[in-house]
Amino acid sequence: MIEITLPDGAVKKVPKETTPMEVAKSISEGLARNVISAKFNDTVVETATPLTQDGTLTLYTWNNDEGKKAFWHSSSHVLAQALEELYPGIKLTIGPAIENGFYYDVDFGEHTVSEKDFPTIEKKALEIARGKHDYKMRSVSKADALSYYNEQDNEYKVELIENLEDGTITFCDHSTFTDLCRGGHIPNTGIIKAIKILSVAGAYWRGNENNKQLTRVYGISFPKQKELTAYLELLEEAKKRDHRKLGKELELFTFSQKVGQGLPLWLPKGAALRERLEQFLKKAQKKAGYEMVVTPHIGQKELYVTSGHYAKYGEDSFQPIHTPKEDEEFLLKPMNCPHHCEIYNSSPFSYKDLPKRYAEFGTVYRYEQSGELHGLTRVRGFTQDDAHIFCTPDQLNVEFKKVIDLSLYVLRSLGFENFTAQVSVRDLDKPEKYIGEPENWEKAEQAIINAAEEKGLNFVIESGEAAFYGPKLDFMVKDALGRQWQLGTIQVDYNLPERFDLSYKGSDNELHRPVMIHRAPFGSMERFVALLLEHTGGNFPLWLIPDQAIVLPVSEKHEKYAEKVLNSLENHEIRALIDNRNETVGKKIREAELKKIPFMLIVGEQEEGSETISVRRHGGEDFGSISINEFSDLVATEINSTLKSF
Ligand SMILES: [Zn+2]
Ligand SMILES: [Zn+2]
Repeated sequence: MIEITLPDGAVKKVPKETTPMEVAKSISEGLARNVISAKFNDTVVETATPLTQDGTLTLYTWNNDEGKKAFWHSSSHVLAQALEELYPGIKLTIGPAIENGFYYDVDFGEHTVSEKDFPTIEKKALEIARGKHDYKMRSVSKADALSYYNEQDNEYKVELIENLEDGTITFCDHSTFTDLCRGGHIPNTGIIKAIKILSVAGAYWRGNENNKQLTRVYGISFPKQKELTAYLELLEEAKKRDHRKLGKELELFTFSQKVGQGLPLWLPKGAALRERLEQFLKKAQKKAGYEMVVTPHIGQKELYVTSGHYAKYGEDSFQPIHTPKEDEEFLLKPMNCPHHCEIYNSSPFSYKDLPKRYAEFGTVYRYEQSGELHGLTRVRGFTQDDAHIFCTPDQLNVEFKKVIDLSLYVLRSLGFENFTAQVSVRDLDKPEKYIGEPENWEKAEQAIINAAEEKGLNFVIESGEAAFYGPKLDFMVKDALGRQWQLGTIQVDYNLPERFDLSYKGSDNELHRPVMIHRAPFGSMERFVALLLEHTGGNFPLWLIPDQAIVLPVSEKHEKYAEKVLNSLENHEIRALIDNRNETVGKKIREAELKKIPFMLIVGEQEEGSETISVRRHGGEDFGSISINEFSDLVATEINSTLKSF
């Protein structure tokens, strides 16, 4: 008999060679029907793998990320079989699961594949899936594995096998198809009920542009047809909300090849929006006891050698800037922290002076590979809403709670209600991975967990996920399309205070090391605006949106009155513009709708006579004719309902 421990701590005694699927069955038939993948002692196993020793077993369904991974990886085998049957002589390379779906990189030889072939591939793949073929793993010797793929003339698989150790090589069979594979499959192909080929793209073998270019076929699959339909609808909606598209339409930002890739240029409306976001956070930070600091965009190379950032970013990033003076080198700053440490170091502090909270909208530069760049979410220069808190270990819990309060305030003011948190702590089995005193770690981890509990956060604890220099808390936000984004990290750091020799005088008159907290509720202004665009589809909260209203005179005759209305709106601090083109009101309304301007103020004969405006809300709601004062109250009420004071 062996002892199987389940995630809830329950222990099951089962005969040796029992499989994960049999364990599932012994728990409930319902569970067994849904189990598609399993992990035994931190290793992914097949649901049919006989278990031969004591250990911890986790069973996964479609509702777990691990389950989806097995589902999609298994689907890539089905795709590969379909491609091989449709295009004889092609060479298969690798086919992993990805965040949403899977791909297979294929050398199609003389064949070409394009969008028009997708339905044929999907049909073939689904036909194979319906055969309910079991996935079966088997060990093969290196020699047999090599000869199998040499016979097929597949130099890619041969290269992969050559780098593997004899005795560790496994093949996976299903139906008539065999693939080199480490494992991690669903029980059989019949569980795959819907398959969609999403796109094809070029991809170099092993990601190296000196190698041959292969064709990457992207696909996704589901256990129910209706889930595929919902996913495709989501994709359509995501396309409409793509921040790169909306950023252009709403005239927020642009890129110039002349300025350089990954370096966003903020247009007037975007810059003003960013300014409002900054002011919003500055105001809250001031109340929370932060002090603003300003530091330069570059620093001496030595600064980053001290901080350790040179070792991390130096080689693969922007290279040092040289000056006429020999041996003088500066770096574009990849992080603001070293500068803030030196600000802390500029004056002596006692425990009574702490905490010190230094905040800066600091622009940093990191050299992302050009293939990694993506709109505003992956850029080479970005501004962090950065702050560093220097405190005593005893202050950590209170400071952490304050940062949580501020982060929640930021998220809620911007319409994010759906969020969770993750607390990342040490792996207690690997103490060598972490710097700093274990008792400080213990204290910090407990401080974070207590803070998260006291603030009523919905959080999980992930052991082994902490950075080598300290534990942290991340907020995970779900956007309107249900996609998860990591936003707002609060990180404890024992490393930089050590490296910069930071100290404060304690009540015992001795020098002590402060603890440092890094935090950025937005993350970066660039990424946050991108996320906000995709979350709201450009319908920003009223307090933030570039143009809150547009005045639409029905004819030239009413232009003067329209100007007067605009003036009056400005006096009420409402951001508005005017459309006095010689067009019909209907057309002006349609265009204002497209620009997502929240309020359309129509002025004609009747409005001019009664000194009113006819107010129409984006989307169609009609407020009738009201005075400007009444409209101003309407705007103020809506703003106050989302933007509470901190
Ligand atoms: Zn596989
Ligand atoms: Zn920092």
